[in-house]
Amino acid sequence: MAKERVKVLIVGSGPAGFTAAIYAARAGMKPVLYQGGQPGGQLTITTDVENYPGYPDGIMGPQMMVDFQKQAERFGTDIRSGMITGADFSGWPHKVTVDNKEEIEAESVIISTGASAKWLGLESEQRLNGRGVSACAVCDGFFFRGQDVAIVGAGDTAAEEATYLSKLVSKVYMLVRRDEMRASKIMQQRVMNAPNIEVLWNTETVEVQGDDEVNGVKVRNTETGEERELPVQGFFVAIGHKPNTDIFKDYIDMDDAGYIKTIPGTSKTNVPGVFATGDAQDKNYRQAVTAAGSGCMGALDAERFIAEKEVEMQEAAV
Ligand code: NDP
Repeated sequence: MAKERVKVLIVGSGPAGFTAAIYAARAGMKPVLYQGGQPGGQLTITTDVENYPGYPDGIMGPQMMVDFQKQAERFGTDIRSGMITGADFSGWPHKVTVDNKEEIEAESVIISTGASAKWLGLESEQRLNGRGVSACAVCDGFFFRGQDVAIVGAGDTAAEEATYLSKLVSKVYMLVRRDEMRASKIMQQRVMNAPNIEVLWNTETVEVQGDDEVNGVKVRNTETGEERELPVQGFFVAIGHKPNTDIFKDYIDMDDAGYIKTIPGTSKTNVPGVFATGDAQDKNYRQAVTAAGSGCMGALDAERFIAEKEVEMQEAAV
């Protein structure tokens, strides 16, 4: 049986993937989009989104992703459930495997697989996720104005987010598991200069407390074994993200953490016809609006790539 061949294959269904789909569909490229393991992406595990332009009253993250999907469908995107489980970018057209069985040929591939926040792995952290537990200070810090919060982590993200939170909330406890931070000196300096950030060194989280909402966190000093309870309403986890890019690593250039390298100012990867958008290639901004913007770039780059390929093929046929 002949393999299915698509012009634009989009892998992932967050703001980057759906925006790529809207542009590609409106350009008549009949994109096929595979939703992946978490349809709608990271925004489906957040609550109110108040920083996406165009929603003056804010919108719930899951609803926003339903709207993105509807808009992509309106222009004819073929949205499918399923995971891309393999990729072969050694030739052209590109080959990808769906759910370990079916193979598709794609003239262009837009990788929009996102990244996943790392979690501590506590039951209480999972139970109170979205009810005071968050992995994104920029998204959720605003809801804790004037309250006390804790943040776990000691890298640049944690330092940056602690500083960001300190401008909104009354007090920030920064829980650092060792006696030093990994964050760059300048970021550490900002933490130390904030009068309302208290760094608790050698401190690990025992549990996040609260029934329906966070009302505290129990921590343990790893040197002394002493436990104490911090009365906080928000608990932020900033221990890193993992881009969902493993299946592409044999072909696509990435940094040590697995973020896809793109040619600056474009969505182009090292493989012609393969484009990367959203958090899979962005460890700095990681916002819905920046992901959507890069999804647009992916679709426009794919459209140009296909137009050039078509000219090449016509010339070869003459
Ligand atoms: P990192 O991997 O750099 O840091 C993760 C931090 O979380 C480490 O301090 C680590 O502790 C801590 N951690 C990991 N697991 C646990 C755990 N189970 N319990 C408690 N603490 C834990 O991730 P970041 O997201 O901070 O940064 C990722 C990359 O992005 C870095 O290269 C960073 O420089 C860059 N970045 C740059 C920014 C900027 O320049 N403005 C802003 C944000 C990120 P330990 O140190 O003990 O291992």
